Amino acid sequence: MKTLRISKSLLLAYDAVMMGEACGVQFKSMYLDKTHRLDPTPAMMKGNRFEFLALGIKNRDGSEPEPIKTSSGNVSKAEEEKVKAQAERCKQALEKHGFEIMGTDQKKVNDFDGFQIVSVLDAEGTKDGEPVIIDTKYSGLLYNKWEVMGWHPEKIANNIFHQKQALMYMFHMAHRTGKLYDFYYLVHSATNDVESEIFKMQFSDDPDMHQKMAKEQFQIFERSLHSIAKTIRLQYDMDGFKAVPTVKGCMECPLMADGSCKHAISVPEITKVNMVIL
Ligand code: SF4
Repeated sequence: MKTLRISKSLLLAYDAVMMGEACGVQFKSMYLDKTHRLDPTPAMMKGNRFEFLALGIKNRDGSEPEPIKTSSGNVSKAEEEKVKAQAERCKQALEKHGFEIMGTDQKKVNDFDGFQIVSVLDAEGTKDGEPVIIDTKYSGLLYNKWEVMGWHPEKIANNIFHQKQALMYMFHMAHRTGKLYDFYYLVHSATNDVESEIFKMQFSDDPDMHQKMAKEQFQIFERSLHSIAKTIRLQYDMDGFKAVPTVKGCMECPLMADGSCKHAISVPEITKVNMVIL
């Protein structure tokens, strides 16, 4: 295996593999062997466009994210107006709340014992003199209580995905700099041009308690990173990543597209159902 690089997306994808909800063979090729990549979804492309308009973040190849298009390939005037309005709102919110942006699209890589962790910060800077990490979202799930990636104010405190990203980035910056960064999500609706929320992720309202709990959580998180790295290596060496083929998953998978997966399916398998006689 090439150097194991643990990123937020690897952690989330690995969770899904461990729960049997995602294909282990696809995970291995994308995150460990790095032979394949998924094409960006329309939602990701909208998010990229938003980040470019709000923070000037370009695509990985240095190009500018293109205007949002309709399914027929024409620029969608309605989508463009919406994303521009939300990007403007994001800039105004940053200014109004006193965020000073020091850098955007900041890639950070740190070596640990036998692996690396990688974080890409949308923006880092300061607020009221304190260091901050800013993560922007352009989401169709603002105020959605039920989807796993939803952004409902009452549910975020229990949302493992949003917490894990915040914890990982805070941990990473603390590890690099010795400072405790505050973490903010700026979430903008992709379904209308007005709804948006700002969430500060913290362990406690009490600054001392926040510091203390952050220290404890970082220690736990670091132990879990070592454990995940060890388990992934073991699974890799023992060829333990199992295929979980589904028609939809395979049809969208680059390993099916280039014919490199012997497990790919294009029609459903037969699921046996043992009936309970009433
Ligand atoms: S084609 Fe299907 S089974 Fe093969 S790696 Fe992709 S998702 Fe998994």
